[in-house]
Amino acid sequence: MRPLFIVLVVLFCVVATQTATAEDIPASTLKVIVIDPGHGGEDTGAIGPGGTPEKKITLEIALRLKKAIEERLPHVNVVLTRTDDTYIPLKERTALANRVRADLFLSIHANAAYRRGASGVETFFLSLEASDNEARMLAALENNMIPAEELNSMDGLKEVDELTSILWDLTQTETHHESQLLAEFVHTSLVDAVREENRGVKQAPFIVLAGATMPAVLVEVGFISNPEEEIKLSQSVYQERIARAIATGILNFEKEISRIAYED
Ligand SMILES: [Zn+2]
Repeated sequence: MRPLFIVLVVLFCVVATQTATAEDIPASTLKVIVIDPGHGGEDTGAIGPGGTPEKKITLEIALRLKKAIEERLPHVNVVLTRTDDTYIPLKERTALANRVRADLFLSIHANAAYRRGASGVETFFLSLEASDNEARMLAALENNMIPAEELNSMDGLKEVDELTSILWDLTQTETHHESQLLAEFVHTSLVDAVREENRGVKQAPFIVLAGATMPAVLVEVGFISNPEEEIKLSQSVYQERIARAIATGILNFEKEISRIAYED
């Protein structure tokens, strides 16, 4: 009788644990992810010394990233802000993410610097104050790649005021903390995969991230202004490695968010 009793107790424990797991751990926290390939159309972004436009690299990586996420998180709907070479105003990109109730927004860019040797990966989340001078200049560069007609059609000063107040509100919220978490997970995974210089997770006032109501980050996947990195960024194998690494970062972020929700 004794062994049977033990078997029954073990069986009960297994069933009880499984029931608790199914009921208590929340289902996936991510349902919709918006991926934003930086620039597009008349806004080429930075141009590499070999003539590669940033807009081309960002779109190719974004398309690969969509596939990589769908393979590993089949329940998630991945939406791109653009799927071809068209220009989409910065504010419309986050507006789309808000409209489709995205759980996460990730903008892909390639970096540029006057110093040709500058290289490596850096990941940003939104803040009113830039982490350092370079981050401030980069945000200004990315923010200013707006065609003249769009700039002319908006009241410049009002725009800056609006951005300031949005940023101030945002930095006070939980979403802001989650953006930092997302940036850290994506960045760690990316640096591990590409083995390029780790330029760190930074903060800067990027217009494309302002106004997002979900965790939002901007990834600078490499320096297109560096001749060697320009070549690598154009290669499908390297693009695939970047896409898979970002997908892993998103997966790890999801696990962490689910764990926090479970503990609460
Ligand atoms: Zn860019």
